[in-house]
Amino acid sequence: MTSIMEHLASTAAIAEAERWTAHNYHPLPVVIAEGSGAWVTDIEGNRYLDCLAGYSALNFGHRHPTLISAAQEQLNRVTLTSRAFLHDQFGPFCRELAELSGLGDDAMVLPMNTGAEAVETAIKVARKWGYKTKGVPRDEATIIVAANNFHGRTTTIISFSTDPEARADFGPYTPGFVIVPYGDLDALTDAIDASTVAVLLEPIQGEAGVLVPPDGYLAGVREACTRHNVLFIADEIQSGLGRTGATFAVEHEGVTPDMYLLGKALGGGIVPVSAVLARSDVLGVLRPGEHGSTFGGNPLACAVARAVVGLLRTGEFQRAGRDRGDVLHRRLNGLVGHGVTAVRGRGLWAGVDIDPALMTGRQACERLLRAGVLVKDTHGSTVRFAPPLVVSDDDVNWAVDRFADVLAG
Ligand SMILES: *Cc1c(COP(=O)(O)O)cnc(C)c1O
Repeated sequence: MTSIMEHLASTAAIAEAERWTAHNYHPLPVVIAEGSGAWVTDIEGNRYLDCLAGYSALNFGHRHPTLISAAQEQLNRVTLTSRAFLHDQFGPFCRELAELSGLGDDAMVLPMNTGAEAVETAIKVARKWGYKTKGVPRDEATIIVAANNFHGRTTTIISFSTDPEARADFGPYTPGFVIVPYGDLDALTDAIDASTVAVLLEPIQGEAGVLVPPDGYLAGVREACTRHNVLFIADEIQSGLGRTGATFAVEHEGVTPDMYLLGKALGGGIVPVSAVLARSDVLGVLRPGEHGSTFGGNPLACAVARAVVGLLRTGEFQRAGRDRGDVLHRRLNGLVGHGVTAVRGRGLWAGVDIDPALMTGRQACERLLRAGVLVKDTHGSTVRFAPPLVVSDDDVNWAVDRFADVLAG
């Protein structure tokens, strides 16, 4: 039970954060002190089921023992060398990730830290590939992206966002991007011309509300890219690494992109780790000095990410994404007509539209918080459910029961 003193401590902690930090987020009023598996505990001692999982950065849950011990062992050895030198985790990490991808014998890996850096890396690689390999005249390359995308927060990336909150007042914008509606294969194919070097897409649009494209869309994009000699870049930063019940969301359509962008879960919820994965004829265009990062591919990051790859190699987490996801979707679909207007998603990842006459997404999140479930709203009336893949069926059922209570008032 929460004491008055604990509750006061929580109120003070919220006020302190509010006063001393830039207001670039609007967090729910909870101050987390501990996490284990799918559950977290706040500074008042209340427990919550984490149904956001750090936007999929916590696919393996909080403090997965295998990942924690990999980090601890590496902390006792060496943590940073810079890329000026090699270290003993670097080659093995790149090889193991390449092997997991199934891209084949000529796959290459470029490790970075954040997802946005992986996207920036892909943009640079695609442009250089366009000039050096495809023969596009210098500085004329364009990249096709989808409306309502989310690829990160840098000035170049927000240049091709269609979200006014992400974009307005942050110009001037980087040119070279063409925006087409998501899921419309004809619009995408029509937009390809001689200057097109790449198509950059999320296989499922996460921040947009967990939008799954129509069947055949990704396969059609693959086919169009191959036909026009254009790189297909799959941003799997949120959709990849088990979330949808597969290692990569593109697998659901049997598609292999030219570049995979990975992040979030690759760092095991411990350190930021991102990576670009591609064949050597694509990533091989980079020469020494043209791109890099001080922390990218550091020993601690590589040790943790190797342990992540090891977990994924078992297939256990992809299976959990599928099986727990079936329960989640079956239960959420049962709420359609009872305060829910639509449920989308794949695997252990759902976007739920709440009847706006009932409450906003934010209000639903606040009420779920009081009921012991952490979720996050997006775009007004959508709430996302994406618990760690280590969640139990009972936990999933319990969370949906709490959601049903909230909707019932
Ligand atoms: C989160 C996310 C990013 C950006 O990752 P950061 O680590 O926050 O920079 C890029 N693409 C997608 C699809 C994401 O979900």
